[in-house]
Amino acid sequence: MESPDYDAIVIGGGPAGCGYALTLARRGYQVLLLEKVAFPRFHIGESFLPYTTEILEQMGLLDAVMAKPYAFKPGVELTGIGGAVRRIDFGEIGDGRRPWAIQVERAEFDKTLLDAATVEPGVTVLEEAVVTDVDIVDGRAEGVSYTHNDENHHVSARYIVDASGRAGVLVKKLNLRVSDSRLKMAAVFKHFGNLDESMNPGVEGDTQLGVHEDGWLWGIPLKSDVISIGAVARMSILQSDRPEKVFDEHLARIPRIVDRLRGTTVVRELKGERNFEYHTDTLAGPGYFVIGDAGSFTDPVFSGGVLLALATARKAAEMTADTLDGLKKETEAIDLYSAFFKTGYETYYRLICAVYDDRQPVMGQVILDMSADLDPKYHVRLVSGDFWTGDNPLVNRLRAEKNWNLFAPFDLLEECPIYPPSPAA
Ligand SMILES: Cc1cc2nc3c(=O)[nH]c(=O)nc-3n(C[C@H](O)[C@H](O)[C@H](O)COP(=O)(O)OP(=O)(O)OC[C@H]3O[C@@H](n4cnc5c(N)ncnc54)[C@H](O)[C@@H]3O)c2cc1C
Repeated sequence: MESPDYDAIVIGGGPAGCGYALTLARRGYQVLLLEKVAFPRFHIGESFLPYTTEILEQMGLLDAVMAKPYAFKPGVELTGIGGAVRRIDFGEIGDGRRPWAIQVERAEFDKTLLDAATVEPGVTVLEEAVVTDVDIVDGRAEGVSYTHNDENHHVSARYIVDASGRAGVLVKKLNLRVSDSRLKMAAVFKHFGNLDESMNPGVEGDTQLGVHEDGWLWGIPLKSDVISIGAVARMSILQSDRPEKVFDEHLARIPRIVDRLRGTTVVRELKGERNFEYHTDTLAGPGYFVIGDAGSFTDPVFSGGVLLALATARKAAEMTADTLDGLKKETEAIDLYSAFFKTGYETYYRLICAVYDDRQPVMGQVILDMSADLDPKYHVRLVSGDFWTGDNPLVNRLRAEKNWNLFAPFDLLEECPIYPPSPAA
């Protein structure tokens, strides 16, 4: 290809797209980021992990994010079937690791990240720019067509990055997306205002997760007076009646969340998301990378989506820059990135499988049983984002389960991107 217009074109301006654009531009390259809609726009995915806070800090984004009055998340409250309550306290994460997370309104949070990309030298952001096609020439991704201001455009780049989330623009063009039926879940959710945390029977700021026979509920405070409530269940259950009715009926099954809602009023009416669980075994190829939700999405019970999106975005940008700098061959970059993506997402997926395990269906029980004789820090780290580690016994236990694989067999890349081992360790 002669003289492409950009070094990289990013399809989608969510956390993954912004994370990639910022990282690559800081290595001195020119990036065009095309986002379909104008921000702010609603997005679900509001509860973050301690490792998410850390990667935001590492990417220079935490100060801008924390300028908004988001809810401080010190831990997670788990209610199991039968009402048993357990708490994961991030304060037990162990030395040298950030012991807290936040919960956010994604419309605002995502805009903060897109604004950061917009002012970053080397990044050009276009909102309301809809990518309609990707050029694949002799198997290599080389450019995209998009519409903007009612006009059709075409641009070329050395790398095309699919960060389009569930839309999966490039993944679908290449016919790469697959789905298995094990976790065919869907969610319905609302926001409630006038939240008064003195009604919370647990710890202020905690995310609440409550499991019942037909699914699970989340309670995620977003700000001091707003809380997000969601009901997750198999598609067949959520489609069995009016969504409002199923939502109310499932909510009533978790009294601790009902208690927390006393005195609140609905400020965002019911919305839904379906088709959980898809992935692709091909995360990168000649001229392209697939990052974040575009590559894989599974049940959101452990709030790992934004961490995985940011971590894979940063890794893909590092691999792109290493290739453009001549430090790595493209094939090596593709292999490393693919192993990194699969290690993170599959470890997270295995954790989710533990929750849905028919042998012990009670939320958290499997993990608690595994950790009975262990330092609690390993348990806390597992649910804080320890998806790439090789030294967490709980993670290794999850990886030993034969039937919990997400991808075709691959070589693990045990290299935590958030807390790499110190050279002396
Ligand atoms: C019910 C539910 C609950 C969840 N809860 C959590 C949670 O508590 N914590 C958590 O961390 N994660 C959660 N997630 C997951 C989280 O929302 C995602 O993992 C995260 O948003 C992924 O970021 P992304 O940048 O990959 O994709 P997205 O944030 O979806 O961004 C993709 C962007 O691409 C744009 N786009 C799409 N098509 C085109 C096109 N043709 N041209 C240009 N742009 C395009 C879209 O407009 C969008 O802005 C949840 C998800 C669901 C469904």
